[in-house]
Formats: sequence, structure tokens, C-alpha cells
Amino acid sequence: MPPATESSAELSERLDALRREVEQSPCCQLFGSRTRFVFGEGDPGADLMFVGEAPGYHEDQQGRPFVGAAGKLLEELLASIGLRREQVYIANVLKCRPPNNRDPLPAEVAACEPYLWKQIEIIAPRVVCSLGNHATKLLSGMPLGITKVHGRPQAVRIGSRMVHLYPIFHPAAALYTPAMMTTLREDVRRLPEVLALPLPEAAEETVQDALALTDDASPSPGTSAETPAAAGPAEQLGLF
Ligand code: URA
Repeated sequence: MPPATESSAELSERLDALRREVEQSPCCQLFGSRTRFVFGEGDPGADLMFVGEAPGYHEDQQGRPFVGAAGKLLEELLASIGLRREQVYIANVLKCRPPNNRDPLPAEVAACEPYLWKQIEIIAPRVVCSLGNHATKLLSGMPLGITKVHGRPQAVRIGSRMVHLYPIFHPAAALYTPAMMTTLREDVRRLPEVLALPLPEAAEETVQDALALTDDASPSPGTSAETPAAAGPAEQLGLF
């Protein structure tokens, strides 16, 4: 964990060093097909970090995460709780766009995930908000999909620190499915409460607890009922 005194400039420098290292590294086949590398951006000392799946067309063109339609929605959701994107950190599981926005392959996730862990270690957020299935499964270490686990914080260990993992539907999926949009807005509305939680301390109450919670069909107090996911384009994209 970085020392508490580490300044924003120092964190920024550490992230830049990591960015330079990763950008040059041909760690998987996407290195050859991408247009731009998309490391992530935002406040290097943010309390709240979002993790999406992978860059899409616009992100690949601009080298920035969440700048297309899903990004516009993410910004709107942030505004609904009084935040701007500059106040959070936004990254993805993969740093390069998979051709035609196909799902990340296991080998691509395996090659790229060490860089995400390092980003989270440097930024040291209180809450990591995973967007959709891929980020949620990777960060929770569990196979449970987003439809089962959205809207409930889980205590997870990332590197040397415990954080609250808060899975929500991927904004791109919600753009296709009105019921999911309603649930996404409700889950985001509760984000300030999650940010106000004390940091989890015990590693023991992590992933196994989350499993016990999510195996229960009834939603926990204060959470909305889960929205049944209708099969549609978003599901075909693997976003939930
Ligand atoms: N979808 C993602 O998962 N990430 C982006 O950066 C854009 C769209």
C-alpha cells in the first residue's frame, strides 16, 4: 500500500511509469490489432474506481476509456450522484480493443490483469465499481454473473488492501435494456453509501461471504430486486 503521504503528483508519476511499461509490452495478440492503447484515466488518488471490460471502437480511436455512448451514460450516472469523471478513475480489464468488440479471451485477460492489479494498488481506491460480467468475475474471483451480484458491496482483497467491490450492470448493456437501466440507476444511487462504509478489514469475509449472500434468491435489505435479464444484444455481447 502506498504511504498515506503520497501526493497526487507522485501517484500520477507511478501510474505514468506503469503506462509507459504496459504500452510497449506486446503481452498478447491485441497489441498487433489495436489502434491506440487505452490505459485508463482520472484522479490517481480517487476513492472510487470504475473497471469496464475493454476499449470499444471510440476508445480505440482516442486512447481514452469510456468515450462512446456507454461513456456518456457513465458520465450522466456520475452526475446523478454529484461526481464528474475527473474525480474518479476509469480503467478496463483489457487495455486494447478486441477485434469487432468480441468478448475478451481468457488468455488476453490473463496477460492484461497484472496491470489492472497494479493500477488498483497505486490508486488505492475505497470502492472498485465493476461494470458488467467480465470485470466483476475477474475482480471477485467468482464465477457469479452480474445479474446475481449487482448492487451489493463485497469485501475483496486486491494486492495488500481490502476494498469494497461494488458490481453494477455495464452501461452499454443498460443502453439496450430499459429494465436494466432502471436497476443500474438505482445501484448507482447507492454508491455514496458504499463510499461511506468503513474499509473492510478481514480477509476472511471476502469472496466466500459474497457467495453465501448471492446464493440467496432474496435481495438483501436496502437493495432492489434483481432484474431478470432478457436475452438480447447486450447478452450476446457478454455484458451480463
Ligand atoms: N466499454 C468498456 O467496457 N470499456 C470502455 O472503455 C468502453 C466501453
